[in-house]
Amino acid sequence: MTAHRTREIKRWKVPKGRVCVQDDLCKGCGFCIDFCPKDVLSAASHYNVKGYHPPELVDPEECIMCRFCELICPDFAIWTEQPDQEGQEQEEEDQDAG
Ligand code: SF4
Ligand code: SF4
Repeated sequence: MTAHRTREIKRWKVPKGRVCVQDDLCKGCGFCIDFCPKDVLSAASHYNVKGYHPPELVDPEECIMCRFCELICPDFAIWTEQPDQEGQEQEEEDQDAG
């Protein structure tokens, strides 16, 4: 998890924790967006350093923390955090995306 902190991380509050995205690791495959069972992810309008649209949470309140996005991402660009996990306290230091 330490590697995730070397670059900007976006975190969205969801009912049971947070969903986090490190934009620049994303290769735009869309797996997380296509397979989220609650359709709460969408491609952002901006580009990352690789020229892809990373995912963003468009409806955080509907996230059920199933972790499927984290499990399916081939590049570890999206992951979840539960309140008692390391990193939760870092929220003020990282970009808060919503
Ligand atoms: S944890 Fe589950 S519901 Fe929440 S964004 Fe990821 S795939 Fe969707
Ligand atoms: S699964 Fe990973 S690499 Fe693919 S779009 Fe989602 S965050 Fe990006």
